[in-house]
Amino acid sequence: MPDVRTELPGPAGRAIIDADAAVTSGSLPRAYPLVPRRAYGSVVEDADGNLFLDCNAGIAVTSTGHCHPAVVAAVTAQATELLHYSASDFYLPIYSRMCSALAATAPIDGPVRAFLTNSGAEAVEGAMKLARYATGRPYVISFFGAFHGRTYGAMTLTASKAKYHKGFGPLVPGVLHAPYAFNRVDPDTGARSHDEEETFDYLENTLFRYQVPPSEVAAIFVEPVQGEGGYIVPHAAWLARLRSLCDKYGILLVADEVQSGMGRTGRMWAIEYSGVRPDILISAKGIASGLPLGAFMARAPLMEKWGAGAHGSTYGGSPVPCAAGLATLSVIESEGLLANATEQGEFLMSGLREIWAEHPKTVTDVRGVGLMIGVEFRSAELAERVQLRAFERGLLVLECGESTIRVSPPLVFTREQATTALRIFAEVVNSAGT
Ligand code: PMP
Repeated sequence: MPDVRTELPGPAGRAIIDADAAVTSGSLPRAYPLVPRRAYGSVVEDADGNLFLDCNAGIAVTSTGHCHPAVVAAVTAQATELLHYSASDFYLPIYSRMCSALAATAPIDGPVRAFLTNSGAEAVEGAMKLARYATGRPYVISFFGAFHGRTYGAMTLTASKAKYHKGFGPLVPGVLHAPYAFNRVDPDTGARSHDEEETFDYLENTLFRYQVPPSEVAAIFVEPVQGEGGYIVPHAAWLARLRSLCDKYGILLVADEVQSGMGRTGRMWAIEYSGVRPDILISAKGIASGLPLGAFMARAPLMEKWGAGAHGSTYGGSPVPCAAGLATLSVIESEGLLANATEQGEFLMSGLREIWAEHPKTVTDVRGVGLMIGVEFRSAELAERVQLRAFERGLLVLECGESTIRVSPPLVFTREQATTALRIFAEVVNSAGT
């Protein structure tokens, strides 16, 4: 079988490792036995020198590719100048520059203020605290299928798999869940349907009527494209209706773009496709190309309600991650990565849809936007087999949802790499039924 090593630049690898043996060798449970040692662009080299084409981007993180020279240079320069000073207690110029640069991209009305964190979950926690504090209301709503992180508040908002909650209760009080936008393909007819009614009927006629009055709800947290839940893209009209519902009751709309933001969908923020403007926007993952940085941005009057010391973080927005973040924003701009994400995304999408057309009994849906593409399989076992076999052939992809494989390469992914990825994926899907 051809493997990707023969087509990629870089040090020659040893024979591809025996994944089956590694999986059963008693190592910690991981998706598959990848041992990354170094990486550049969209290529990862493992401990044995094998090369892999990365359609994970470190789980939607390495937006500018692994070790982009501009990011590495910015990090190195910053590391020689100032490694740390707590931005929660003092005025760090680079922190302010990162906040301003981010705020300038945010599709939020009026002046925007930002708060920087170390991770997505921390940014979600901060947004939840801010929403409750600024509105004085106790309840928050998120959606079934949502993933917002694993700290207590974020974990309580999460509702994509039972395993995220099991054994950790009691969870944070005041969090309620509603059905997410429906985007499904009929397995018999192939027709795609979007359903908005279920969400709004549930919110208005069940949740607000019998559980909590809307005047007690601080915020609705939404992923504009659901990530861990299966790469589900809602109809633009669904998001617009959510905005109207929030306006009707004075509820804040919080967009969690930890996975869908920073250019992944071909726009800086996925919510831009709908024209909807959130009150609070959350980012992390791709924001600093791999350094630990997260952020939540809000309409200035909301953030300004916080008095001194209401929120803080020793490391959040530390100088080196901020340097990586500023370099990431500038590379996204200077290298036209939004346009590239759209172009390569469309190419991948049409190639994956061809694979779907050829294997309608194996693949049941291909959906997504930009370089945030989900390929749904008939069963979780099939998806798992595809994931492992792709790894064995040098292609890194990762499951999400119940039976979906996500294709989310770095935004620098090239046409040649997309062609190779499609060829390997097609071979793997071909043999997956056997
Ligand atoms: N929100 C979303 C939408 C995510 O996809 C994730 C991570 N998968 C998080 C929050 C949590 O981010 P982190 O792992 O950095 O805490």
